[in-house]
Amino acid sequence: MELLHAFDLYRFYHSGEEETLALRGVNLRVEEGEMLAVMGPSGSGKSTLLNCLSGIDEPDGGYVTLLGQRLTRRPEAVRAAMRAKNIGIVLQSRSLLEQLTVEGNLMLRLNLIHKKDKQRAVELLSLVGLEGRMQSYPYQLSGGEIARAAIAMALAPNPRLLLADEPTGEVDALTEQHILQLFDAHRKGGGAAIIATHSESLAAKADRVLRLYDGRILENA
Ligand code: ADP
Repeated sequence: MELLHAFDLYRFYHSGEEETLALRGVNLRVEEGEMLAVMGPSGSGKSTLLNCLSGIDEPDGGYVTLLGQRLTRRPEAVRAAMRAKNIGIVLQSRSLLEQLTVEGNLMLRLNLIHKKDKQRAVELLSLVGLEGRMQSYPYQLSGGEIARAAIAMALAPNPRLLLADEPTGEVDALTEQHILQLFDAHRKGGGAAIIATHSESLAAKADRVLRLYDGRILENA
C-alpha cells in the first residue's frame, strides 16, 4: 500500500534579488514496509523536501499525497491534522522542552494528541531503552539518549510514516544501530520511514537511497 507520493516538487526561496531553487522536480513514492534514505550534501534540499512531505511547508510546484489524500494546498489546519495522525517527525534537536522531564515531555505530547496515558508513555520509553531515564531532564541526557527520546516522541501517535532529519547525526555507532533497529521494527510493523542522513551505514540498511544534489534526485538506487 502506498503511504506517501510526491509529484514533481518544486520549492524556491527568495531573499532580496536572490532566488534559491531548493527543489527542482522531485518525485518519490513510499510504500508500507519501506525505509528510504535521502542523502546529499548540505544545502542539497533534504530538509526542504522533508518539510514539503510532511505538509509543514508548501511546495511552489507539484504536490504530495498521504494515504491517497492530497496534502498540498489544503488549509493549514487540515494539513496539521493529517500530519498529526499519520506522520511522526524525528527532529535532531528541539523535540524536548528543557523544563520538563523525559516522561513529562512524552505525557505532554500524548495529551496533545488526546492519548494521555501513562502506560503508553512507559511503553514508548521502554521501546527506545529509556525506561531508566523517565525522570531525567533533557540537560541530563547524552546525545544518544536525546536522539532516542526524539524517536519516542515521534512514535507517540502511532503514525504510519516516520520522517527523520539526521536522526543519528550526533550519536555513536552503537546508538546508531539501536536507532536503526527502531526504524526497522517500525517498518516491519507496516509503517515506513524516510530518513535524511549523512550516514552510509544507515543508508546501507535502507531499501532505497535517493541522492539529492542541488534540489534534484541524482539516482534512485
Ligand atoms: P539540506 O537539508 O540538504 O542541507 P536545505 O533544504 O536546508 O538543504 O536547503 C536547500 C537550499 O535552500 C539551500 O541553498 C538553502 O540555503 C536554501 N534555503 C533553505 N531554507 C531557506 C529559507 N528559509 N530561506 C532561503 N533559503 C533557504
